[in-house]
Amino acid sequence: MMLKEAIYHRPKLNWAYAADKRTLHLRVRTKRDDAVEVNAIVGDKYAWEESRWTAPMRKFASDALFDYWETAVVPPYRRLRYAFHFRNTDEDLYLTEKGFEDALPDHSLEFFDFPFLNPADVFAPPSWVKDAVFYQIFPERYANGDPSLDPAGVEPWGGKPTPGNFFGGDLKGVLDHLDHIEKLGVNAIYFTPLFEATTNHKYDTRDYMKVDPQFGTNEQLKEFVDACHKRGIRVLLDAVFNHAGKTFAPFVDVLEKGADSPFADWFHVREFPLRVVDGIPTYETFAFEPIMPKLNTEHPEVKKYLLEVARYWVEEIGIDGWRLDVANEVDHAFWREFRQTVKAANPDAYILGEIWHDSIMWLQGDQFDAVMNYPFTNAVLDFFAKGKLDAAGFANAIGSQLAAYPQTVTETAFNLLDSHDTPRLLTLCGDDERRMRLAALLQLTFPGVPCIYYGDEVGMNGEGDPDCRKCMVWEPEEQNAGLLRFYSETIALRKAHEALRGAEIAFLQAGGGSDLLVYARGAEDGERFVVALNAGDADASVAVVVGGSGVWTDAYTGAAASVKAGQLHASLPAYGYAVWRRAGK
Ligand code: CA
Repeated sequence: MMLKEAIYHRPKLNWAYAADKRTLHLRVRTKRDDAVEVNAIVGDKYAWEESRWTAPMRKFASDALFDYWETAVVPPYRRLRYAFHFRNTDEDLYLTEKGFEDALPDHSLEFFDFPFLNPADVFAPPSWVKDAVFYQIFPERYANGDPSLDPAGVEPWGGKPTPGNFFGGDLKGVLDHLDHIEKLGVNAIYFTPLFEATTNHKYDTRDYMKVDPQFGTNEQLKEFVDACHKRGIRVLLDAVFNHAGKTFAPFVDVLEKGADSPFADWFHVREFPLRVVDGIPTYETFAFEPIMPKLNTEHPEVKKYLLEVARYWVEEIGIDGWRLDVANEVDHAFWREFRQTVKAANPDAYILGEIWHDSIMWLQGDQFDAVMNYPFTNAVLDFFAKGKLDAAGFANAIGSQLAAYPQTVTETAFNLLDSHDTPRLLTLCGDDERRMRLAALLQLTFPGVPCIYYGDEVGMNGEGDPDCRKCMVWEPEEQNAGLLRFYSETIALRKAHEALRGAEIAFLQAGGGSDLLVYARGAEDGERFVVALNAGDADASVAVVVGGSGVWTDAYTGAAASVKAGQLHASLPAYGYAVWRRAGK
């Protein structure tokens, strides 16, 4: 008997969605290792008898409790009625919208319904995003290219960062180092805020229409973006639309005039005058931070102002998209208008939300193209850096994540391992470069868009803010050349092979209590990679069935792999890894 209580489906969201303008993906959940076969019975509601067919489903992910099944269907008239059929050794079972049945009902009304595949509703991020490798730059700390712009009291490059000090990084500095960025192989830059503000991190915006004079001018940013585009590098800016800064002119006016200010409704004021009582501001802010007053994005004037900001930088400066700070605390209605505005300015612009939790409601095609994938971050760090998960625990965590979102979302998820908000990856790995390489290798061979935090590639370490915001190390003798080579070679590998960028992933070895993780990427009958990562401090043996024909080689060196009786064999040292490739037909 199959466990009915574990079986789950619901139309829309991650369970029934348009993968493109013709194709629907249907998914259903069963108890792990319960059903041996699952099918979708599908048809057109207006030609039910003639159009019905059976679509076999494949198990595309598993976690500790469940298996997840998926099939891709191209409905001839873009409408679909469907039910599910489950089989195990002793039972056949059907699931319709009415519930469980022993046989299929006669009437199609009892089936699940995907009413019509309207192209306007399809989640469709820009096509370039899935092939991007991002590089995050904290502009105050990347390079000081123009000392004449330095703020007063700038400290010598390479000093110890504090929450408030400055080192003089600027746009010219980044421009001067585009060769480094291009050589690393990344093809997109994500800047933390560049707009005028008082702090070194610039998250307290004073003027959303102006590059901070410490970094340069709007014209210089345009020149910078043009220079990047010539090298095939895209540029993403940080938009802080949840809250403004304490020097934002409308806020200054409300501070002075209280309820009489024409901007009084631009913010969420609980009580005038604005003040802080026992540490709690009398107005809504970001995280009780008095210098970061929350903007009222429902107010027509605020909306008009922020949407003009969104348009200006995309249309007139040519940036390739926005990363949205604290995106989940802003209303959905605002984000829908924001998307319309940004896509009207450039249909290829990328909209990336900062959300640390389940984000499905922002990823329906009407708001964001992607979110920062912190659940991925946590799973990778727990396995490779902290040793909190074994290989099975890691594979289960990833299985849950793959099941939680449409495939199209997984392919463009923004996969970061560290940032200006967290300790650096090397530090999280206990300053063990071998562990760091494993985590980075997983990130760079995984579905979703990898993002590398500046300086990680040359071996920079650092505890949480402000230590993770140290000045970029430029002296070659202080850079870790081996690590830099590893990053650029692995990025090149990802860029050269579509199989490493698609959604297809299968765990081949991920045992309970084991530190050895082996997974395959790409289709079983096409170009395929096998990645083996030993996250333990003892040697580990890899033996995985690869089947099929074709020659397996070391993906980095091209040397022949050891394949015996259809099995790939290798012995990995502590914290060792291997990547094998079989060419497509
Ligand atoms: Ca400077």
